[in-house]
This record gives sequence, C-alpha cells and structure tokens, in this order.
Amino acid sequence: MIDPVMMSSISWVEFQRRVAHENLVVFIPCGSLEQHGPHLPLGTDALLCTAVAQSVARAVNGLVAPTLNYGYKSQPRCGGGQHFPGTTSLDGHSLSQIARDIIRELARHQVRHIAFIDGHYENQWFLTEGIELAMRDLGKTAELRVMRLEYWDFCNEETLKEVFPDGFPGFALEHAAVIETSLMLHYYPDLVHLDLIPSDGPAKFPAYDLYPPDISLVPASGVLSSARGASPQKGALLATQICSSIAAAIEREFYA
Ligand code: ZN
Ligand code: MN
Repeated sequence: MIDPVMMSSISWVEFQRRVAHENLVVFIPCGSLEQHGPHLPLGTDALLCTAVAQSVARAVNGLVAPTLNYGYKSQPRCGGGQHFPGTTSLDGHSLSQIARDIIRELARHQVRHIAFIDGHYENQWFLTEGIELAMRDLGKTAELRVMRLEYWDFCNEETLKEVFPDGFPGFALEHAAVIETSLMLHYYPDLVHLDLIPSDGPAKFPAYDLYPPDISLVPASGVLSSARGASPQKGALLATQICSSIAAAIEREFYA
C-alpha cells in the first residue's frame, strides 16, 4: 500500500523534492520486540511508536523513516525482563550505532530536522548516545537538529485523570497495561485479545536492580499493572492528545 507519509513508499525523486522545497522533518520510530503480556503482540512498542509518528508526520507534513523494530534489552522493572520467550533485544552499542548511522545518512542527504519517536523506555540513553556521536561526527558547522522523545511523556494531567479515574500507577508499571492496551485498541484493534488480560499486579519491586535478575518479582504474565480499564475510547483520547502535543513541540522547535 502506498502511504505518502512513509519514506519507504516514495521515490528518490520525490524525496529529493521534499527535502529541497520543504522544511522537512524526518521521524524515526524506535520500538522493541518484547513480551507485552498474553493479550498484546511482541511488536507493541514498535507498532505504537510507528502509529504516533505517522499521526504527527501527517499533522506537520513530515516523513516517517522505517521503524527500528528491535530495542535495547528489556529490564524487569519496566518491561518484564529478558526471560520471556520472544523478547529479542539489541546490545546498547548496536542500537546507538544504528541511530548514529541513520542520522549521518539523512544528514548526507541534506535533511536538517530529525525526530526520534521512542516507544520503548529502555532505548532512551542508547538513542541519546547515537545522537551525540552523530552530532560529533558531523561537527559544529552542521545545521542538523535532532529531537528525541518518549511519546508517553506528552500525556497531560487532564488526560491521565480521565484514563485513570482511580489514580495513576506511574509510567514505570505501565507496561502492557492501560495506556498501551488502550492505544493498541485504538490503532490496531485486531491485535488485542481483551479476553486474555490477566489480573496480575501491580508488581512490587525494590528500588534497585540485580544481575542476574530475580524473576520471581516479575508477574508471570509479564503485565506489570492491570490492563483492566483499557478501552478504545481511552485510546482515542490518548492518541489525539499525545499527537497534538508532539506536533506542537515539532512546530515550536523546527518551524517557528
Ligand atoms: Zn511497551
Ligand atoms: Mn518496551
């Protein structure tokens, strides 16, 4: 299917025209292949950051580069950990180098604005390292500017109050829980199995990590706090508010 917002769907001729004639922002969604409980698919983080990037790109006339479908290693306190079958992760160094390579390549083609839309908490410092290394490679005279964000940070208080009428458990435990499940119901309803939502949680972790991890602390389902209460209506509310807030940040930093 041809989607003109996707960089992989347009020709080099069209790409060249858009870079030359528009103040083009290229979005790079960054996900993971990671367990998300029995009710959501392994690709949840990648699917959601891609959907968010597409919505924002449509709003600001940007372009979405292919998603990074693998991410840094799942950590027990925010993603359940590496022990779940199917959780398939990169070393931090690999992720940083991929980010660095893509930035350098886009800069070589005269792209001046790049936004990493991160959907997997564990990615953030390795993406940051890739950005830092690329900026150092390109040197002080490069006109390139890069934004990196975790999309859930754009949820405002009003939205959180509506999504969590009984109180918000915090983003660290929001793994395969109400926010991700609601957003999946909004963007990809066919991939959600509401009948399989477990009643685990909320998980209780100490304020430190151990290696090797104590997997007895992680709920067996992989869900860190209950996804009950998720709905497509909450998903629509979250998606609309998050995307308009990210679009506003893009306008402010890259178009103002
Ligand atoms: Zn996730
Ligand atoms: Mn994740």
